Amino acid sequence: MSDRQKGEKTKGVSRRQFLTGSMAVFAGTLLAKDVFAQVKDLSPTKKSDVRLILLGTGGGPRPNKVRNQSAWVVIVNNIPYVVDCGGGVSRQLVFAGVSLAALKHIFITHHHSDHNLEYGNLIYNAWASGFKGRIDAYGPPPLEKMTKAFFELNTYDINIRIPDEGRPPLAPMVHVHEFSENGPVMEDENVKVTAALVNHPPVVPSFAYRFDTARTSIVFSGDTTPFDNLIKLAKGADILVHEVLHKPSLARLLARVPNADRLLEHIVASHTTHIDVGKVAKEAGVKTLVLTHFVPSDDPSVTEEMWAEGPRQNFDGKIIVGKDLMEIQPEGPRVSKTNRFTSARDLGSESILRWS
Ligand SMILES: [Zn+2]
Ligand SMILES: [Zn+2]
Repeated sequence: MSDRQKGEKTKGVSRRQFLTGSMAVFAGTLLAKDVFAQVKDLSPTKKSDVRLILLGTGGGPRPNKVRNQSAWVVIVNNIPYVVDCGGGVSRQLVFAGVSLAALKHIFITHHHSDHNLEYGNLIYNAWASGFKGRIDAYGPPPLEKMTKAFFELNTYDINIRIPDEGRPPLAPMVHVHEFSENGPVMEDENVKVTAALVNHPPVVPSFAYRFDTARTSIVFSGDTTPFDNLIKLAKGADILVHEVLHKPSLARLLARVPNADRLLEHIVASHTTHIDVGKVAKEAGVKTLVLTHFVPSDDPSVTEEMWAEGPRQNFDGKIIVGKDLMEIQPEGPRVSKTNRFTSARDLGSESILRWS
């Protein structure tokens, strides 16, 4: 970022965000070194209340009974910042006790359906829940096109409800910010968000996000192979929420599907194994590694201990085997009190702490 750009920062809104406005596209404006320099520059100036809730920890597009598709939410001073919108994200937010009417910010890592299937529906559900303000959505192209297409798909219903139920027009409330390169994504009074390109072929661009708050730093890997750009982004972070693949179990997973050969090729070439994720966490020097986006996500023969055993070979920090609706605070995990359908025992907070 140039000095001129820095000087043009507006209160609570980065120049980049300011320039993009609604439905704008920008690309290639920042170099990676600028990004990481900016992250290091952040110095906590105030205390903040930060919560991280894993809404969906499953990987892949096939729905199952064990794990919801990918979605997480960082809540800072009661403002939710949703990362990814796999199917079921709206209901998982409700289960987590997060009001849909409070939705303000959505971040999409990449455009695989297990990360964006409920993107439009989440916006709709917020509106249906009484949301009246402004929603800012951030992510790679074609986020703008998808947003417009979603409104088009639902024109009939939305146009009926506006006069019939006295709701405000929805489309003007949504502001899309597309980007294709490394860089700061947004900044407000609670958080500074930075995106870094990751390696998830054939989906280009795919992003990881770093959230820096006054109290803590949380990085979401998105879907990726081990990749230097992610390690740079995650340097020294308190929490790294990282995707994970249990390679020894792939044969069982693939035995159930007809497109096994192609699927195996994709999975191995675009994800991170449970061994390698420990190397990434070690190299980045993070304090806590949270495993998510489990592949396979519903194979009972892959136990929590088996998931944790991989990263433990290389990483000495705290390892948390993520579960849906698990809440993690900077000082450690605790079970969401609002989860009505799974007992604390089932959520496994005690067994998770064992690995700390
Ligand atoms: Zn995925
Ligand atoms: Zn993906």
